[in-house]
Amino acid sequence: MNIPCNKLSSQFFKYQEEYENKVIEVLRSGWYILGNEVKSFEEEFASFNGNKYCVGLASGLDSLVLAFDSLGIKEGDEVICQANAYIASVMGITRNGATPIFVEPDEYYNIDISKIEEKITIKTKAILVVHLYGQSANMEKICDIAKKYNLYVVEDCAQSHGAMYNGKRVGSFGTIGCFSFYPSKNLGAFGDAGAITTDNEELSIKIKKLRNYGSGKRYYNEYIGYNSRLDEIQAGLLRVKLKHLEELTKEREKICNRYLKEIKNSNIVLPKILDNSNTVWHQFVVRSDKRSELIDFLSNKGIGSIIHYPIPPYLQEAYRYLGYKKGDFSITEKYSDTVLSIPLYNGMTEEEQDTVINALNEFN
Ligand SMILES: *Cc1c(COP(=O)(O)O)cnc(C)c1O
Repeated sequence: MNIPCNKLSSQFFKYQEEYENKVIEVLRSGWYILGNEVKSFEEEFASFNGNKYCVGLASGLDSLVLAFDSLGIKEGDEVICQANAYIASVMGITRNGATPIFVEPDEYYNIDISKIEEKITIKTKAILVVHLYGQSANMEKICDIAKKYNLYVVEDCAQSHGAMYNGKRVGSFGTIGCFSFYPSKNLGAFGDAGAITTDNEELSIKIKKLRNYGSGKRYYNEYIGYNSRLDEIQAGLLRVKLKHLEELTKEREKICNRYLKEIKNSNIVLPKILDNSNTVWHQFVVRSDKRSELIDFLSNKGIGSIIHYPIPPYLQEAYRYLGYKKGDFSITEKYSDTVLSIPLYNGMTEEEQDTVINALNEFN
């Protein structure tokens, strides 16, 4: 049996007719950019997420770049961010000229809240929270700290569509929530797409202008903007998938609950779930001190796995100018040396799940 780490086709075939009908509908409409599909998706996603506004954008990276731009965050400003973030999270900060200030993650792979305050300086403007692997961070505590120091909170929800803290969705706590709809995300489009959510009308209007050359009225340009429009086909397809998102999330949850219950191996550390928080299981991430042996062992059985992520942003070539070196964040580095994502996708059969569980239990 061959079990890939991820497989996107089955979630397409499950609702094939709905997707195909939507594409044909948009193609025949004669309207391809910023039309009714985008407008409707924005309304539906805002409502799903418990936000007043949503603005559709071209990608997740753009959602971060435009979020910080709209907040006026620029060169000389500092943004606090977990050291084990995804590279795009950090690029959202640095594309605006601001400096990321890294904080170690906690045992849930999210920002360690107890280490935030010591990093706050007079230059700090915002905290970027990355709800990694699908799980919400403790947003109440983070919002309390932000309030105390008068900081913005930007949430990177690219891996956590629908996840909640105390029954409230991620992306609805902070000033702005940033989303990617890259095909492999839990709410994935069939191409590149992204969005922001906010309750701040002024910011939503500004980001709507920024995505379209800084223009609110045709040929009048208020800002030096971007071309970061969500297109009608992707918006239409996202509307179809959004209707099924809860069901798709439940399916992932069911698989992961089996993993949590049935994987028993002292060489493998399973993920933990924070109190009052939930995860939508973007990834099922285990840790092993014998990771490379584990990868080979699984691979010999035809089971795929992938490392999210092997090199932390501060050690990337692109960020050499920040002046960090190996050893600067020991917890982050321990994670990047030991984490492994095992197969998880909608449409995964019970037999495939059994094979993964048995293999992990046999490894020593
Ligand atoms: C995928 C991802 C992004 C970037 O999204 P794109 O749509 O690929 O630009 C940003 N942050 C996180 C945490 C991600 O997982």
